[in-house]
Amino acid sequence: MPSPRFCPNCGADRLSRQVPAGDTHQRLVCAGCDYIHYENPKIIAGCIIEQDGKYLLCQRAIEPRPGTWTLPAGFMESGETTEQAALREVWEETGVRADIVSPYSIFSVPKISEVYIIFRAVAIEVTGSFGPETLDYRFFAPEEIPWESMYYPAIRQILERYIEERQAGVYGIYIGNDDTGKVHFIR
Ligand SMILES: [Zn+2]
Repeated sequence: MPSPRFCPNCGADRLSRQVPAGDTHQRLVCAGCDYIHYENPKIIAGCIIEQDGKYLLCQRAIEPRPGTWTLPAGFMESGETTEQAALREVWEETGVRADIVSPYSIFSVPKISEVYIIFRAVAIEVTGSFGPETLDYRFFAPEEIPWESMYYPAIRQILERYIEERQAGVYGIYIGNDDTGKVHFIR
């Protein structure tokens, strides 16, 4: 996330990094108006949607890594719940109307200050129309999933885990992180 150069409050070019009194972290502080700029992680919400043993993936039309396949997911907007954000992203990226079943995975990517919240969901309606961020969408059987063209290793690991669990019919909830380049699931 790029830091602002000018104060978002007064517009002055007087921002500098310092630890405000009583705080624990360095912040950008404006010497003109004492505004403190807090930079917090972004939340990305999305869904695993399974229908008859097939899994809904969408193919990215946009950077980064256009052409790769991923779970429908995207940045939460202000004023939304995580569930609303996940379902909106599914709708925008695949044209599928869905309902949330349960949380499935929460993982942090501290290097880029992002948190992914992935839900289990079920498809209610497949409309066939989707937005400009998607090239294509498909329900894939496990053996058809384009594993080598997955957008992000963590997405691949979450989906692999889910497919294993579906066979047992018991689903865990996983907490992971990407700070070592690998996602660790905690049972
Ligand atoms: Zn200012």
